[in-house]
Amino acid sequence: MFIPQIDEWQSASEKTAEFLSGQHKLVIGGTERPSASGEMFQTFDPAIGKVLASVPHAGKSDVDAAVASAQSALLVWQKMAPSDRAQLLMRFADLIERDAPWISEVESLDSGKPKAHIAAVDIPLAVGALRYNAGWCTKLAGETIPVTAPDMLVYTKREPVGVVAAIVPWNFPLCQACFKIAPALAAGCTVILKPAEQTPLSALILGRLALEAGIPPGVLNVVTGEGATTGQALVEHPGIAKISFTGSEEVGKHIARTASSTLKHVSLELGGKNPNIIFSDCDDVDAAAATAAGAIFFYTGQVCSAGSRLMVDAKVFDRVVDRVVSEAKKLKMGHGLSAETTLGPLISEDQLTRVNGFVEESQQNGIEVVAGGQRGAGNLASGSFYEPTVLTGAKDDDRVVKDEVFGPVLTIQKFDTVEDLMPRANATNFGLAAGIWTRDIAKAHAAAAAIQAGTVWINTYNQFDAAVGWGGFKQSGYGKDNGREGIDKYLQTKTVWVNYAG
Ligand code: NAD
Repeated sequence: MFIPQIDEWQSASEKTAEFLSGQHKLVIGGTERPSASGEMFQTFDPAIGKVLASVPHAGKSDVDAAVASAQSALLVWQKMAPSDRAQLLMRFADLIERDAPWISEVESLDSGKPKAHIAAVDIPLAVGALRYNAGWCTKLAGETIPVTAPDMLVYTKREPVGVVAAIVPWNFPLCQACFKIAPALAAGCTVILKPAEQTPLSALILGRLALEAGIPPGVLNVVTGEGATTGQALVEHPGIAKISFTGSEEVGKHIARTASSTLKHVSLELGGKNPNIIFSDCDDVDAAAATAAGAIFFYTGQVCSAGSRLMVDAKVFDRVVDRVVSEAKKLKMGHGLSAETTLGPLISEDQLTRVNGFVEESQQNGIEVVAGGQRGAGNLASGSFYEPTVLTGAKDDDRVVKDEVFGPVLTIQKFDTVEDLMPRANATNFGLAAGIWTRDIAKAHAAAAAIQAGTVWINTYNQFDAAVGWGGFKQSGYGKDNGREGIDKYLQTKTVWVNYAG
């Protein structure tokens, strides 16, 4: 349902218009089909609050069909030579790259994030995950194990766990999907991808491109629908061996409980409340402050690794606050397709209400709003825009310091000594990521050792690479995406004992 007369959509390419005006269908067993019930749901452009497309709502029978096709494709995919699987993943990556210009537009319209950011960040990460994991296909070797018993050859094989349900959130739809699809397919698993209901479109494109790349039917299936129905049907399905989930802590815990009844493998990439720490002895306080602004405001703060708790040495506190506020004021809110936009909307009005609730509560508690704190006005009022917001004076036990806001809201707090700092930095249920800014190498390593987080960035922030494992400690979940650990979680080890004594 593409409506070209809407001003904000005028700059979209013909390919984007053609895709959006087509019929959107589930991808099951190599064919595109409507949901069995014919039920659809709508996805919106959050920058203008208008319906972008109608997408099938997969019900239980669609999930059954997807599982059946993934199960029968498992044999074909496992039997394929690893080098052939690698080539297909490489071809899949090439096709995403070929179509990047219009995929970036669709993703921008669906998620609100600036098209330029998608082209610079999301697409390279998605393509990189496929190429990196393609390399693993030919390297998944087992081992031989010397044992006490005589005349025994004992060897291990790395086998795929089976059918994987990849359930992903709305903040990085394309690259979160590839972080799961790529290692799962490289391991020889088949996949059912369920994108978030807010951003279903890029997953449908992935489903088509996988087929165009020559990946056999049923190896990658895509079902769109709501979490409580489509997602729940996947988590309950006895034919699925593993749930690979990225999303909220609440849904992650629910999935872990539900999946336990069929003893599925589960990996969970959940939320974060990440401390970003600036010591007064860092190389360049202004540069650290500018990066700290990017660490929270990138994709409007809707990033699990967002540096949402800036902790600053008292000696440079005022200077850092001034610089972060000036960076916040430079951001240009607008539609994701506009080249000037550096800050898109929040994903939905619900998310805006939630984010604003944190800010209002903070104000009631005497926390100072030194920048932002309002929804976008004027020509931004029909979208879910929220100003980049900076808060000072929050205490460690304020909700805005402890809970994940998932919006462009930064608290800046002071610390006096390292001894005082570390327990405060770790005083959160999450443990996803942290930043440290100092030129004192001993202090940097000591802080990195003390921080309870899956990733620590020193004198940098928000660095990602397909070769580097990503995942949290504590209630940020378990099981890594990317890197060697990223593929290990889609494999299980079989041990074979051979008596060669005759
Ligand atoms: P969400 O948990 O609401 O939804 C995530 C996915 O789960 C969606 O596809 C949704 O449809 C599905 N889902 C919801 N209920 C379900 C159920 N009962 N059974 C099965 N599936 C269900 O999360 P969200 O709001 O889409 O995303 C934001 C959250 O994701 C934040 O907490 C953020 O920190 C987290 N996140 C974490 C990482 C990471 O790498 N750690 C990355 C991105 C986002």
